[in-house]
Amino acid sequence: MTYPTQPTASHFINGAYVEDTSGTPIDVVYPATGEVIATVYAATPAIVDQAIASAKTAQVAWAKMTGTERGRILRRAADIMRERNHDLSVLETFDTGKPYQETSVVDATSGADALEYFGGMAATLTGEHIQLGEDWVYTRREPLGLCVGIGAWNYPTQIACWKGAPALACGNAIVFKPSETTPLCALKVAEILHEAGLPAGLYNVVQGMGEVGGALVSDPRVDKVSLTGSVPTGRKVYAAAAAGIKHVTMELGGKSPMIVFEDADIENAVSGAILGNFYSSGQVCSNGTRVFVHEDIKEAFLARLSARLAGAVIGDPMQVETSFGPMVSERQMNIVLDYIAKGQAEGARLVTGGTRLDRDGFYLQPTVFADVTDDMTIAREEIFGPVMAVLDFTDEDDVLARANDTEFGLAAGVFTRDLARAHRVASGFEAGTCYINTYNDAPVEAPFGGSKASGVGRENSKAAIEHYSQLKSVYVRMGDLEAPF
Ligand code: NAD
Repeated sequence: MTYPTQPTASHFINGAYVEDTSGTPIDVVYPATGEVIATVYAATPAIVDQAIASAKTAQVAWAKMTGTERGRILRRAADIMRERNHDLSVLETFDTGKPYQETSVVDATSGADALEYFGGMAATLTGEHIQLGEDWVYTRREPLGLCVGIGAWNYPTQIACWKGAPALACGNAIVFKPSETTPLCALKVAEILHEAGLPAGLYNVVQGMGEVGGALVSDPRVDKVSLTGSVPTGRKVYAAAAAGIKHVTMELGGKSPMIVFEDADIENAVSGAILGNFYSSGQVCSNGTRVFVHEDIKEAFLARLSARLAGAVIGDPMQVETSFGPMVSERQMNIVLDYIAKGQAEGARLVTGGTRLDRDGFYLQPTVFADVTDDMTIAREEIFGPVMAVLDFTDEDDVLARANDTEFGLAAGVFTRDLARAHRVASGFEAGTCYINTYNDAPVEAPFGGSKASGVGRENSKAAIEHYSQLKSVYVRMGDLEAPF
């Protein structure tokens, strides 16, 4: 199997590809066929040290550059990413199995948006002046220093940019560890940033499993950790970062609700449910996997949903007409199959799907369960696959309480034509990102992140700047200084 833009080594450190085959080999598997398409090697302690040391050194000069100079490089990188969108999208498809129909419009493009947005913002970052009579205080917005980014496997290019762009704009250096399941795309982000003029050492990529992530998080030279991953990993990484009193951003999992009221436009609500459950084969953190549908329209909703799902084109992710690809790995496919079995065992009604496809690769059918109750496993735990749970309701207050009855708080959606109700419900949701008559939009201009166990901090938007910089207050006395003795 050949594909364009294959990275030439496992790691990218100090502005160049670096190989060290003494690390544990990690096979990269194309999910559509199960074939091994590349092998990278986990970072040894020496590689981790090399990455951290080069980032530490490079950051000092980077922080001294003006925001305009830093931003220009990020914006140039955004342009290069857009020019190479096709090749990057193909690589993303090979890394994740997501259809090219998706990757060509979502992954490198949203990475480029982040580089452009934070590149533009770099020159606007300032402190403030606070007058105190004759005396005064000024604040300096300073970088945190060395940031570590740790990625999940569902959006490898986007995650590498969503963490790298604000970190670099604020004058930090970053060491990024992609998920071991999708190690290739972040290397191309590093390559492009350096081609755009980023000085060596500022954006480094090292490969490895959780152990390498753990070594990065606990290194005393690291000032900030940003993780995208599951809640159990988040608890470990947060605790390890806390030991060193490090700044954190935690973008974790969810089990988000979507409420469809009886007055909703059913086609739009079905579109929202499809986008919020089956895009990227359901492997999206903010997915609205608990779909509460008003009893009066439940059967009509299920009928339209089933009809529309029959139109999914499942197949070779490289074919432009394919709209539903494989799961990222055999492991993830088996996790989802276990949940489907639990759904059936606990009495949910299987409306459609439910099985693996008889073909190479890790393909599941889009699956819908109805008559799901709040206590069923498929309504409580994050599945991270194409499994929608449809639950009934009749009363607004009651459904809102049920929607919020979860440890997670990443996202939530409501479909209704009654806008007063829509805003009332949105204000009642315990979630970081809410949607009214839409689902799963994530533009760089808007803050994205979770409440409750789904996370700490926000990515994207002006809010991200607060998580990649800190304020220093400088007090200035204009007259003589009095002291008690
Ligand atoms: P995961 O938690 O298994 O792994 C995430 C990353 O953490 C990987 O790079 C892994 O190697 C690393 N890691 C594991 N243990 C570690 C440790 N002890 N110390 C440091 N690093 C460690 O998650 P995953 O299976 O790759 O991704 C799926 C999860 O990510 C889902 O729960 C999903 O909801 C979540 N996710 C969240 C967002 C968001 O923005 N909120 C986005 C995408 C995915």
